[in-house]
Amino acid sequence: MNFVDRPRLFHENPASKDAIALTFDDGPCFTSTPDVLDLLKEQAVRATFFMIGERVRRHPDLARRVFNGGHQIANHSDRHVAFRSLVPSVCKKEIEKAEQTFRSVMGIAPRFYRAPKGLINRYVIKAISSAGYYVASWSCMPGDYFGWHTAAWIGKRLSKVRPGHIVVLHDGLSRQPEPDRTRTLSILPGFIRGMKKQGICFVTIADLFGLPPYF
Ligand SMILES: [Zn+2]
Repeated sequence: MNFVDRPRLFHENPASKDAIALTFDDGPCFTSTPDVLDLLKEQAVRATFFMIGERVRRHPDLARRVFNGGHQIANHSDRHVAFRSLVPSVCKKEIEKAEQTFRSVMGIAPRFYRAPKGLINRYVIKAISSAGYYVASWSCMPGDYFGWHTAAWIGKRLSKVRPGHIVVLHDGLSRQPEPDRTRTLSILPGFIRGMKKQGICFVTIADLFGLPPYF
C-alpha cells in the first residue's frame, strides 16, 4: 500500500499482482452512464463510480442502477468545486452534502472520496481522513475528458496500466452535464479483454486495498 501523504491517500497498491481498479468520475450522466453499465455487464467487470451529489439528485434512478449493478459508489463532492474544496471546511461540507444524497437515494455512505480535478492538500487529507474517509487518487489518467484526445491516444495511455493501478475514466464531465463518451466506450472492451488475457482481473477500489467501501 502506498501512502503518498499521511495517513490515507490511495493511488495504487503495489502489493496487488493481478488486479486493476477501473474508476469512473463525474456521473451519473443520462447519455453515457447506461452505456458504461451495459459494457461493464457484458465484460463481467465491477468498477467504482465517483459520483457528484448534485448529479445523483438529478438522476437518482440511474445512481441506483449503478449501485444495484454491483459497482462501488464513491464520493466526488457535491458540486465539483475544485479550488474551493482545497479549504478543509468547504471540502467537508461538500462531502457531507453529497453523502446525505447518497444515503437518501441508495442508503449508503461511501468511505472513498476523490477530490474534484484531484486537487488536494495535506490539510484536507488530514481533516477528512480523521473523519474516516479514504482519499483516492490514481495511477493512470488517460485524459478521456479532453475533446481532442482520440480513442487511439486514450488506448495508448491505457497500455501503460499495470496490476495494482487505479485507472480514472469519466462517465460524466464536470463542465458538460451530458457529455459524449463514445471514445471511452470504444476502447474499453479491447483494453479489458487484453488485461484478462494476461490473467488480470478488475476489482473495486475498496477490494484493491481490502478496505470497507461504506460506513
Ligand atoms: Zn471530476
